Amino acid sequence: MPVGRFAPSPTGPLHVGNLRTALVAWLAARSDGSTLLLRSEDLDPASRPEHEEGQLADLRALGLDWDGPVVRQSERRPLYEDALSDLDAAGLTYPCYCTRREVREATRAPHGDLPEGAYPGTCRDLTAAERAAREAEGRPPALRLRADGARASAADARVGVVEGVVDDVVLRRNDGLPAYNLAVVVDDAAQGVEEVVRGDDLLPWTPRQAHLARLLDLPVPAYLHVPLVLGPDGDRLAKRHGAVTLADLDGAGTTAGEVRDLLLASLGLPAPGGDDPLGPARDAFVRDRLPAAPWTPPGGLLTPGDRS
Ligand code: GLU
Repeated sequence: MPVGRFAPSPTGPLHVGNLRTALVAWLAARSDGSTLLLRSEDLDPASRPEHEEGQLADLRALGLDWDGPVVRQSERRPLYEDALSDLDAAGLTYPCYCTRREVREATRAPHGDLPEGAYPGTCRDLTAAERAAREAEGRPPALRLRADGARASAADARVGVVEGVVDDVVLRRNDGLPAYNLAVVVDDAAQGVEEVVRGDDLLPWTPRQAHLARLLDLPVPAYLHVPLVLGPDGDRLAKRHGAVTLADLDGAGTTAGEVRDLLLASLGLPAPGGDDPLGPARDAFVRDRLPAAPWTPPGGLLTPGDRS
């Protein structure tokens, strides 16, 4: 049976954009009779168990369910270390001593055909003496992938082929934590995930992750990137836009059921039917008919006080 997943980071409550993506992940899996896994991407130090609990409660409040226990990345560190050792043994890693600021400065200007925000490889060819000098300054290194400007691609059911040049992504952060790109690739393969549904803000990472999977001899999943939800100012939805979580919206008089119905309408899917609220949408769901444009919730919904 095919396997899908939803993988939120428990660093705060889910907002309407995250919930809409979760709904699509659920519809994609359930319309196919696939398994849907839930993975808590809790490596970030800002992760909190109470946020995870709140996120799961909000998903349930929309009528979403998943199969099996929630898997937490914080409990899977040895898997990521194994993958790192394989890449290391293949000569595909190098230590990077750049500070956050140095990376920001280095990535500001475009470098050849590297994508926006790509790391240009400042530390790639440091000599042993240069490395020793940086070590002596007490700079803890991150570990980066030697990508050698490879091109990589993956298939997305809505967007088509997602292709790009791969830069030297971070594999282990300089605080010792496995980096997002490594953990996500290792976990999707280890959990047998065949379809990744997520927000299209992550599209730039897709070729990088596909490349990493191939280097690790892991299968590349199929993707379905969901267009983002925007605030009234046209920026990606965020806390500052007002009532953006189920709790905020409830406080402003919009129930979870109403949010679910609004999200279904935003996806062009039918409204709930009786005992099986998501049944009609599940039956009507077709991946490549998802709206291609970002969605801006109707005026007033996100701002408490605007709705009387
Ligand atoms: N944990 C990531 C997030 O919440 C999603 C990662 C993914 O789906 O690949 O943004």
